[in-house]
Amino acid sequence: MIDLRSDTVTKPTPEMRRAMANAEVGDDVYGEDPTVNRLEERAAEIFGKEAALFVPTGTMGNTIACKLHTRHGQEVIADVRAHIFDYELAMIGWFCGCVVRPITTADGILRWADIRAAYKPLGPHAAPTGLVELENTHNIGGGTVYPQAELNEICDESHALGLKVHVDGARIFNASTHLGLPVQEMCARADTVMFCLSKGLGAPAGSMVAGRRDAMDEGRRLRKRLGGGMRQAGILAAACLIALEKMPQRLHEDHANARWLAGELAAIPGIEIKPELVQTNILMFDVSATGIDAKSLSDRLKTAGVLANEITSATMRMVTHFDVTRRDCEQAVAVLRKIVSTSQFPAKGVELLGEA
Ligand SMILES: *Cc1c(COP(=O)(O)O)cnc(C)c1O
Repeated sequence: MIDLRSDTVTKPTPEMRRAMANAEVGDDVYGEDPTVNRLEERAAEIFGKEAALFVPTGTMGNTIACKLHTRHGQEVIADVRAHIFDYELAMIGWFCGCVVRPITTADGILRWADIRAAYKPLGPHAAPTGLVELENTHNIGGGTVYPQAELNEICDESHALGLKVHVDGARIFNASTHLGLPVQEMCARADTVMFCLSKGLGAPAGSMVAGRRDAMDEGRRLRKRLGGGMRQAGILAAACLIALEKMPQRLHEDHANARWLAGELAAIPGIEIKPELVQTNILMFDVSATGIDAKSLSDRLKTAGVLANEITSATMRMVTHFDVTRRDCEQAVAVLRKIVSTSQFPAKGVELLGEA
């Protein structure tokens, strides 16, 4: 199977498995796991923050960060297709007691003017804005990256209004690779950042939150409440250290594969994608003109050995990663081209009718 569903499917490398087998461990709930402590110190250093917290999942990391910055009955400004809104089982409501104030964008990237227009102080009817949440890269936006000047502006202006900014940086190293900027510089003005070690970086599980020390101390208590006190978690942290130190350097390969795929997909009749908009390792493309809905196309690809998720009835997503080679990408394109060209309802159908 060629698995283009997500970069979460990457398996730990042999080096990670060796490090896991040999990891020095202790009870992390007592703060005594030396490998977790080392991971948290390194993450804080790399991100230029006072402290960092190891969490089992990105969802837990985002939940902790949102809870740190908000109070019940507030609004969190985010893009309408944000992970915290669409893919976290409403934790923002369930645990934080907040609602999302969604902003519709073309590419998932918020602009300060949109945020300013959505901002509300407490009023007789209005719930006040409690937090601004930015996703970098933006997953459903197509792996899009915040221009650094825009992100800085949003942070500065939000702070001027007394608002905190949380960056959902599940794929922040992909953004960093695209911009050629260190994550430290990218996150310098944000209050907290969450990033995943389990996606393109290849660790079996694990994400981190980084921010001020007092915030991370409180985050540790929130993590315990959420059931995230993991004891001898050094086994995981050992793989995560390798993911953090070594894997970001190779992400450009995934980006090159994604760009190549985008160019090939654009040439398949009925598939619509703008290759010039593909910045990182995520491709979103419209399949409606093939005459096959995205779910059926996904099913037919699967039968032919290619896994790719439908996002809506018209759109599909492909994600490149460490466990997918250029050869695999070539194979995936060939399979997709064949399915589309032999479809019973080809895109050309409409034109044929017109000719008749
Ligand atoms: C994957 C992802 C997360 C976290 O997901 P988990 O599966 O809980 O680790 C958060 N935000 C974005 C944008 C993601 O893609």
